[in-house]
Amino acid sequence: MVSVAAVTAAGLGAAVFALNANAGTVDLAHQVLPAKDGWAASGTGTTGGSKADSAHVYTVSTRAQLVKALGSSTNSTAKIIQVKGVIDANTDDAGKKLTCSDYAAGTGYSQAAYVKAYDPATYGRSKLPSGTQETARAAAQAKQSKNIVFKVPANTTIVGVPGTKAGITGGSLQVKSVDNVIIRNLTFAATEDCFPQWDPTDGDTGNWNSAYDAVTLRGATHVWADHNTFTDAPSFDKANKTFYGREYQIHDGDLDITNGSDLVTVERNQFTNHDKTMLIGSSDTDSVGKLRVSIHHNVWKGIIQRAPLARIGQIHLYNNYFDTTALNGYAPLYSINSRAKAQVVAQNNAWTVPSGGKVAKLLSGDGTGSIAGSGNLVNGTTTDLVAAYNAASSKKLKTTVNWTPTLTAGIESSAKNLPTSLATTTGAGVLTN
Ligand code: CA
Ligand code: CA
Repeated sequence: MVSVAAVTAAGLGAAVFALNANAGTVDLAHQVLPAKDGWAASGTGTTGGSKADSAHVYTVSTRAQLVKALGSSTNSTAKIIQVKGVIDANTDDAGKKLTCSDYAAGTGYSQAAYVKAYDPATYGRSKLPSGTQETARAAAQAKQSKNIVFKVPANTTIVGVPGTKAGITGGSLQVKSVDNVIIRNLTFAATEDCFPQWDPTDGDTGNWNSAYDAVTLRGATHVWADHNTFTDAPSFDKANKTFYGREYQIHDGDLDITNGSDLVTVERNQFTNHDKTMLIGSSDTDSVGKLRVSIHHNVWKGIIQRAPLARIGQIHLYNNYFDTTALNGYAPLYSINSRAKAQVVAQNNAWTVPSGGKVAKLLSGDGTGSIAGSGNLVNGTTTDLVAAYNAASSKKLKTTVNWTPTLTAGIESSAKNLPTSLATTTGAGVLTN
């Protein structure tokens, strides 16, 4: 505990004040990102809605209440939204459960008719779906989108009320072209697209793509995502159907950071049971000079890929724990992908690799991305992951980066204890005040 006298004596420097603001006297909802805690601490730092007056502190338990509290996406008045219990995004304004059929009603869409219309055997593979069923699909998807996408305005904190199981099921928080947002202590589950779109030109054999990340940052700056849990549960990918020999994927990303987003700290979250987990940069031509992200003290378990997929930006991954044992049918492909000249520093992370797993498969790249850093452990042993990857790959990772991380508050110099310590200090529900 730091006394008021001590704070005054310290000269009320902004960084000092930010640290002391979290020193036990401030409740979870009013806490701010500590000084130097990753890229989101850069410049003005990340304070979310901590400066909200009492008229802009909300407690919400339903979708309608959440929508009302968020208000206009262009209103930058500081606000705190406390989520009490689990909000089901697939409900109407009266709280009635909505199903995929409810969204499809009146559009003419049917999954069977869609699948029949764009079967490569008859429709071919050269052009994107168009026509009656694609128009209907887009209309149905727009109805679901209107219901489950929550646009987060600037200067907002969204936080789960401690001591309850708090979260959003089936929803997508969209932080778009705004600054200064805090998302904490929430469980994001079952974000599912009722209306995946067939793209015959995606890859060699086409893909079913879905639309919603549980949390999506697009052109967002100063975002702190802390102590959240992400999961596909209760419907895992192994339950997905297959059409045209391709998985009918109803999930998109867990936490995607794209379209020139910048200055993001992703801290003490649990990412579990998911395929394409974290995308940094939406394409190889996303914004140069942005996409700066710190990712630390997170648990990644039952993740197939993109933990993260990093493009372009300066990205610091430290003190994370990756358990690459298959879980609930999610068999990992790789953990970290560095491509499109991404400048990744991976430092003091720990991996568990099951018997038969290959260290060379923990990384991926296109031959232009970098991964530097040291102190990474595989099954408790210091391991040069990049050397192992490069020895087995033609598209080699570069081993030098163009920057040195300095915003590293709380970094641990050894990854040894992370598998144990992070088990009880990450995800939603462990913060108590
Ligand atoms: Ca996708
Ligand atoms: Ca996405």
